Amino acid sequence: MGKEILKELVAVAGAENVTDEEFELIAYSRDWSYDGPLKPDIVITPGSTEEVSAIMKIANRTGTPVCVRGGGTTTTGMCLPREGGIVLDLNRMDRIEEIDEDAMAVTMQAGITVYRMIAFIEQRGWKIPLKPKFGSGVSIAGWASFNGVGAGGSVYGRVTDMLLGLEAVLPTGEIVKTGSVSFQGAKPFCRYQGTGPDLTGLFLNTFGTMGVITGVTLRVYRKPEAEGFIGYGFQTAEDAQEGIRILTEANISYGINLYDDEMCKIAGLPAAAPWVVHMFAEGWKEEVDFRVRKGRELLEKAGIGEEMPKAIPFWYGVEGMSSRLTPPMRTACIGGFHPLGITAAVFHAYNRVGEKYGLRRGMVWWVINNYANIFPIYVYNEEEERDVMVRAAHDLRAEWSDLGCTPDFPGPNPDITDRIVPAYLAFYTRVKKALDPNHIMHRGMSPRVSY
Ligand SMILES: Cc1cc2nc3c(=O)[nH]c(=O)nc-3n(C[C@H](O)[C@H](O)[C@H](O)COP(=O)(O)OP(=O)(O)OC[C@H]3O[C@@H](n4cnc5c(N)ncnc54)[C@H](O)[C@@H]3O)c2cc1C
Repeated sequence: MGKEILKELVAVAGAENVTDEEFELIAYSRDWSYDGPLKPDIVITPGSTEEVSAIMKIANRTGTPVCVRGGGTTTTGMCLPREGGIVLDLNRMDRIEEIDEDAMAVTMQAGITVYRMIAFIEQRGWKIPLKPKFGSGVSIAGWASFNGVGAGGSVYGRVTDMLLGLEAVLPTGEIVKTGSVSFQGAKPFCRYQGTGPDLTGLFLNTFGTMGVITGVTLRVYRKPEAEGFIGYGFQTAEDAQEGIRILTEANISYGINLYDDEMCKIAGLPAAAPWVVHMFAEGWKEEVDFRVRKGRELLEKAGIGEEMPKAIPFWYGVEGMSSRLTPPMRTACIGGFHPLGITAAVFHAYNRVGEKYGLRRGMVWWVINNYANIFPIYVYNEEEERDVMVRAAHDLRAEWSDLGCTPDFPGPNPDITDRIVPAYLAFYTRVKKALDPNHIMHRGMSPRVSY
């Protein structure tokens, strides 16, 4: 990349926030996937939306690839620069702009970590609907862009469902705001209103391919009086599926999640059953007591599962498992979504692929409204088994797609572009070209579009 561009970028963000030092570029060359290393040519940490806009104008004019990065914790290879160019690191933009208690909304800059934001609103007696369980570096924009999940999904869905609007910089440098603030004088109190189609979705689940999110507004709720949970062990995947169906249809849970005994073995957790399901409840004390009692009653009546009073109430397994591995052993996560009726088949496919390639593994899984997010992990030796891991991931995605699942990310994975209905891919391509005429954002990512 030319020194001229570097000079222009330094003029925008200041020399201390622009680097092409090799040791810094290496630090940006990986995430938590089996992908990479993929180094950028330059890393910039802008301090404001205006700076992001100026950077995008330079990149667009010069045809320089741009890849946006928050905490870099994705398990997918999606924040890696596949064709060099600029990595735009938004971590310096970490201010809470406003908590508007009347509108029940918090507005913040893109780079603030999710946990810092949660601590800030909790001090004031508020909460966000979902409780995620991930690394401390996860940024609010990374989580939104990924359309992340957390406990609470049974009622509240995903991040998309608690978003009231975004501020974003388009690949050509224009700054736009979505949600009610797109109407002059309105506060950020709702996402859908009379200003036309809701364009927030252009930046969700698109992983930085359509623009740079620079600001996020989320709905907040008062913290509940009480929380409760029950844990049940199931001997077969079919019984677990049935227990989950019963709890979901009863509409009594705040969240439902599951892990398997394989995950427990690796993470050092106690597990007395092959499949462990948790149901969470929240609300007023009497309400929580009722929901927990009802869940127990329904499962007892169905005669499946056994209560596990000592079950651990969350998906601690993922973290525990990662921290117990010594390099070169690593974990790779292959995620997806599916309707609840094929839960057991999805679990069998994950076990089949793990056995075929001789990979240790662990399943973490949770309910989102009427469907599920699968978040299983395979353990592999990074020095010797990367190819094995790539093949296993390919097989698992193919099996799941045949069952009717959707993938949890497009990433660089060509299997996914091949499966998108052609008319939808053509529609997506037209929108992408309109927003990003010089194809600077996340080149080489799926869905693959030809310019
Ligand atoms: C142990 C572990 C547990 C996890 N648990 C959860 C969980 O409970 N819930 C969950 O949802 N996820 C979970 N994840 C996945 C991961 O943490 C999330 O995907 C997270 O939201 C990524 O945020 P980030 O800031 O690290 O984004 P990054 O990894 O930096 O980026 C992720 C994607 O978003 C894009 N992006 C980042 N910032 C912007 C921006 N400002 N504008 C446009 N695009 C942008 C990037 O280009 C990339 O495509 C877990 C991961 C691990 C390793």
